Amino acid sequence: MKNYIDLLNAAVPLITTWYRSNKRPLPWRSDPTPYHVWISEIMLQQTRIEAVIPYYYRFLETLPNVAALAEVEDDVLMKLWQGLGYYSRARNLKKAAIVLRDEYNGKLPEDAAALKRLPGIGDYTAGAIASIAYHQPEPAVDGNVLRVIMRLCACDDDIMLSQTKAEVIRQLRCVYPSGEEASLLTEGLMELGEGICPPSGAPQCKICPLHFLCRAYEAEETVRYPVRSPKKARRIEERTVLILSSEDRFALCKRPDSGLLAGLWEYPNFDGVLDKAAILKKLEELGVSVRSISNVGAAKHIFTHVEWHMQGYHISCSNQCPHFSWKSSDEIRIELAIPTAFRFYTNQILEGDIL
Ligand code: SF4
Repeated sequence: MKNYIDLLNAAVPLITTWYRSNKRPLPWRSDPTPYHVWISEIMLQQTRIEAVIPYYYRFLETLPNVAALAEVEDDVLMKLWQGLGYYSRARNLKKAAIVLRDEYNGKLPEDAAALKRLPGIGDYTAGAIASIAYHQPEPAVDGNVLRVIMRLCACDDDIMLSQTKAEVIRQLRCVYPSGEEASLLTEGLMELGEGICPPSGAPQCKICPLHFLCRAYEAEETVRYPVRSPKKARRIEERTVLILSSEDRFALCKRPDSGLLAGLWEYPNFDGVLDKAAILKKLEELGVSVRSISNVGAAKHIFTHVEWHMQGYHISCSNQCPHFSWKSSDEIRIELAIPTAFRFYTNQILEGDIL
């Protein structure tokens, strides 16, 4: 990557001045303690601001500090996170809180290197906590910030390469201010990337504080940046999902402690598309007495690297086979964390369509 330090240096005061008068009121901005910045930044990973806000309020009401987070029951934590996805984020929050309680007196460290040693905290989150909460000269570079920088510089380097991001962080670190300006720069860059120079749709260059400096704008080539090598296609997995009911209870099981959706509850499901005869055979092997079987529809869920294409069946059972945990619809609604991937089937249970 070429050297853009002079250009970045010229951009810094434009961004901080603009942000002072353009910052949106968001809940975590009104009281940016290290704990608040940490929780909000973890929630905001891969998730839209509007979706995060109610989760943020509910999370802080139940877990207002590191001590409460370190001691929370896993099921309560998963329920607080249900619907946000990427559940490993919540598990890492608790793991990090335990380290903070045991080794840091319940406080997040100020130093980005120490922050990065905590579970779930990478370069970006460490930079955000260090600069926003502790006013350290530490950049926080995510996809939004990277896009703004690559357009500002009209840089042709591939943003999918880790060395490109590392070099952007290195060059930004050379121009980062300390004190309150550090916080303004981090948040100003984030705000530009979310609103003015967004990932899809045309950038609003005419109202962007960088438009006098921006090389992509000057060359009328904003759509060309950032340069990105094509992503790999997602793998498609077919699954057969079974909603087993007996009296007013439904069969659930827990996913393994590692891997996709680790430790969450799910409806019994099998790899591949099974026909009714194959389903009945599997259930017989498990000791389930089936009264009736009916198709309850297909659903699709997209994860980062894989897509689930699901076909669902309702099985009315005459016994509650001990192979599963049998839960009421109230328990499903209030207590259990069931991934959004199964929402199509959960909704049918909660709305009383399946009995
Ligand atoms: S001038 Fe346009 S392309 Fe350049 S950073 Fe601003 S919004 Fe993005």
